[in-house]
Amino acid sequence: MDPKSVLNFANDEGVKFVDLRFTDLPGSWQHISFPISQLTEDSFTEGFGFDASSIRGWANISESDMLLVPDPSRFWIDPFFEEPTLCLFADAIDPITHTGYVYDPRSVAERAEDYLRSTGVADVAYFGPEAEFFVFDHVSFRNEPHHAFFRFESEEGNWTSDNPDENLGFRIRTKEGYVPVPPFDTLQDLRSEIALNLEAVGISPECHHHEVASGGQCEIDFRFASMVTTADNLMLFKYIVRNTALQYGKSATFMPKPLYGDNGSGMHCHQSLWKNGQPLFGGDQYADLSEMALYYIGGLLKHAPAIIAFAAPTTNSYKRLVPGYEAPVNLAYSARNRSAAIRIPMFSKNPKAKRLEFRPPDPSCNPYLAMSAMLMAGLDGVLNKIHPGEPLEKDIYEMSDDEKLHIPHLPASLEDALDALEADHEFLLKGGVFTEALIARHIEYKRKREVNALRLRPHPIEFQLYFDV
Ligand code: GLN
Ligand code: MG
Ligand code: MG
Ligand code: MG
Repeated sequence: MDPKSVLNFANDEGVKFVDLRFTDLPGSWQHISFPISQLTEDSFTEGFGFDASSIRGWANISESDMLLVPDPSRFWIDPFFEEPTLCLFADAIDPITHTGYVYDPRSVAERAEDYLRSTGVADVAYFGPEAEFFVFDHVSFRNEPHHAFFRFESEEGNWTSDNPDENLGFRIRTKEGYVPVPPFDTLQDLRSEIALNLEAVGISPECHHHEVASGGQCEIDFRFASMVTTADNLMLFKYIVRNTALQYGKSATFMPKPLYGDNGSGMHCHQSLWKNGQPLFGGDQYADLSEMALYYIGGLLKHAPAIIAFAAPTTNSYKRLVPGYEAPVNLAYSARNRSAAIRIPMFSKNPKAKRLEFRPPDPSCNPYLAMSAMLMAGLDGVLNKIHPGEPLEKDIYEMSDDEKLHIPHLPASLEDALDALEADHEFLLKGGVFTEALIARHIEYKRKREVNALRLRPHPIEFQLYFDV
């Protein structure tokens, strides 16, 4: 869409405000509204000035003046605001150099797409994420933030509840949430409404269902698209999920592991490369993959410990990445088993459907940075012909410790992932996609604000274990 069509649309719809959406470094969506009279054709090149000094991960007093430049290719009316409000994705542009601000995640992802095209390997990378989430009772969640954690007390699934109205009789048992009908599934109407709200803002839902975990875990998949569009979709998706849940008096959370002893929430990322409208991942190698797809897998596996510093970037992420909960632990690929970090879906023989599924990411990530890191790792594999070795057909959870010793594994903590990123990030700097400055700031932010926040505090479980030592 061109700026003129945006303005015409705003006029036809009687829009009163324009709201610009952008993402801070850790991955939270931000917004600033202007009266619609301030949106002109020039706004799409000149942007809107704003003070960026208090945006998380951006803060630099010397660089606090920033421009938000709306992207006219996509716009929608916010479904939750009282006044008709036109929303657009915006890039943060440095007013001095007039290029994408170094700490703006969306600008990183745009550079990653440019770099992909510049290599000649492909002209588009398609991404399809499956972002799972939990829906909790809003009132009890608000009154006691850690309610969900403490409420679930035993691995056998014995529930405790302080809400006398709660229907414990039809409560879904631990790990049995995939996919019973009501009265076990109480979230059908909420998921349907989320799906309709997604359609209203231009995202095509594909299917929705209850997920494996007992405590209201859901999945709503939406159609794959090119990388920046998919990252945009994810920001909008999380917003729609949270705000629709709120209207139902519920809180939706994308934290990867809210419940001890049950499945966590992943964000498996399906991905494939295309050139001139032709798919590049279908072929006559293992699992009907092309040689290029195998090299892409080789790159993802080689750099996975560093990638997950962006794709599984919270301390809580590593409570999900443990054996026994359908989340990957080891670095391997396989057509058959879901315990491997990379799975090759075999649903279709059509080369256009050929893709790989990278399973370590979770929805606490900043999707612009996480997907850019995956693409850069896969591309590094393709450009340097990194063969991934033999596939792994056995269920890793069932292997003896001895057998498992030979399979490399994912970092076991955010600290280890950040160390891995510090040691291995040359592949991210290619084409100026990521910068040393952004990587250093991400590592510092995560170490100071998150790793230490947890590590320096006595944990409730430590009182249980050690109070009487
Ligand atoms: N929730 C699982 C994970 O953490 C995935 C379950 C599934 O979709 N099969 O990755
Ligand atoms: Mg799924
Ligand atoms: Mg799932
Ligand atoms: Mg999946």
